[in-house]
Amino acid sequence: MADVLEIRPQESAEENAQQTTDGFHLVIDALKANDIDTIFGLVGIPITDLARLAQAEGMRFIGFRHEQHAGHAAAIAGYMTQKPGICLTVSAPGFLNGLTALANATTNCFPMILISGSSEREIVDLQQGDYEEMDQLNAAKPYAKAAYRVLHAEDIGIGLARAIRAAVSGRPGGVYLDLPAKLLSQTIDAVKAKQSLVRVIDAAPRQLPAPDSVKRAIDLLKGAKRPLVLLGKGAAYSQADKEIRAFIEKTGIPYLPMSMAKGLLPDTHEQSASAARSFVLAESDVVVLIGARLNWLLSHGKGKTWGKPKQFVQIDISAQEMDSNVAIAAPIVGDIGSCVASLVDQVGDNFPQPPKEWLDAVSEKKNTNLQKMAATLAKNPSPMNFHSALRVLRDIVKANPDINVVNEGANTLDYARAIIDMYQPRKRFDSGTWGVMGIGMGFAIGAAVTSGKPVLAIEGDSAFGFSGMELETICRYDLPVCTIIFNNNGVYRGTDVNPTGGKDVAPTVFVKDARYDKMIEAFGGIGYNVTTPEELDKAVKEAIASGKPTLINAVIDEAAGTESGRLTNLNPQSAAMKK
Ligand code: ADP
Repeated sequence: MADVLEIRPQESAEENAQQTTDGFHLVIDALKANDIDTIFGLVGIPITDLARLAQAEGMRFIGFRHEQHAGHAAAIAGYMTQKPGICLTVSAPGFLNGLTALANATTNCFPMILISGSSEREIVDLQQGDYEEMDQLNAAKPYAKAAYRVLHAEDIGIGLARAIRAAVSGRPGGVYLDLPAKLLSQTIDAVKAKQSLVRVIDAAPRQLPAPDSVKRAIDLLKGAKRPLVLLGKGAAYSQADKEIRAFIEKTGIPYLPMSMAKGLLPDTHEQSASAARSFVLAESDVVVLIGARLNWLLSHGKGKTWGKPKQFVQIDISAQEMDSNVAIAAPIVGDIGSCVASLVDQVGDNFPQPPKEWLDAVSEKKNTNLQKMAATLAKNPSPMNFHSALRVLRDIVKANPDINVVNEGANTLDYARAIIDMYQPRKRFDSGTWGVMGIGMGFAIGAAVTSGKPVLAIEGDSAFGFSGMELETICRYDLPVCTIIFNNNGVYRGTDVNPTGGKDVAPTVFVKDARYDKMIEAFGGIGYNVTTPEELDKAVKEAIASGKPTLINAVIDEAAGTESGRLTNLNPQSAAMKK
């Protein structure tokens, strides 16, 4: 179903009949017809004029230094808004740079559309050697939820409509839209052009769960002795915040948020079992998964982590997700808002609460672990370490609950996730399903542009390196992004040595005592170099208050940090040594 739009000023039928427009204008008109107002990208042949035109027609064009980061910004904008984020790139190499972000978006179920200019079809298909020749459509297919190419100007409207619907309906993901250079300059009759535009109606229709699937889940929950709810980033994405809270509070079941679901309910909520994570995963008997996959981040739902035998209820929009790793006793397929609302209906106001022994055991474990953590955080070692620095950031986020937090690294990611409480939904953006490095500045820019609110980007020194040049972008657009680099002189830590005694440093080591704060100064931003929690506290507070682009080089103990963070089991050598 689609509306035919009138988006250009109406002139007389006669004038209109003679008027023409072109592919460039039609792409912009098609985006605007669907209320898309921002493009993240990087200009060059053949899309420079497209970017210029977008700006001239009132859209925001945020230009990056590398396409991957523009793509990450688009993807996180999509996650925050349920509208596909748009990334625009040039052909071949620019497209390939953007493809990493497209693949990451698809993997994380973030809606985005990568639009790339491409070389001439005839030459590409005959492999006659065009400028930046590449079969981009086929290259994109394995990494995208859908991929389309538009060859005729009159198909631009329908092409974009298909891309939007594919990105946001069902399980969201990345979509590729290929626009050959010739298409952009194609002229078309203005009236025909107008008629070809499509405004997508109900791009992500609700998908109601089957009533018997809801009943099956309720029956299972009624018999549970040690129930647990696990919230994933699908739950955060669905924006069903009220329904989810009602379900958790009415059933009284302890819950665990996955990292990007932190803040969906405040991490300080009394039913949060985060501080007893290992205990509840191992001991629970019925687990309700809401928008979370049983992938490597959850040890595939089996093994030691999961301890005692258990049964799963799984709520997901993708039927195929069920039984992906272990048998799902009660699958509920549908959109999370509708599924959880149906559960809440059935739960009513007198649902049997979980047995007291279970709640007591969870809260005892939680209190013991919180006390241990408080003792570790209270220490003030010199030099500063991850914990003493993160204690400061934890308090700052508590005082600024609407701040966006971007987080990547190995140890920096693991510790920050565990230590920093989140208070509001969709405020934490991190390495996600792949555990990928390089999302930092792209997500920070995407989050700042989309929300208009400040961002704290908490970065390992290694992770920051992947997107560091985007500091210029942050300064150019004067974004309120405060980047904090946990600088321990290397990947994981900075103390490794070259066993041969040769001139080259060890593979994990960076330049000692690097001053990342000087980088942002080169672009007019404000840099800080801090070595103590007090200095860090003062710098972050000043940075947030300024609303300016800032970077804090937080020097921490170079011996702090473990190999691969908490992923030692995935590192072949450490895993072999442990055996
Ligand atoms: P996490 O990494 O936080 O555990 P995942 O990315 O593994 O989360 O899982 C997210 C899940 O949420 C995916 O399986 C996806 O299909 C699902 N999902 C995303 N949006 C919705 C929605 N609106 N309704 C139902 N399920 C959704």
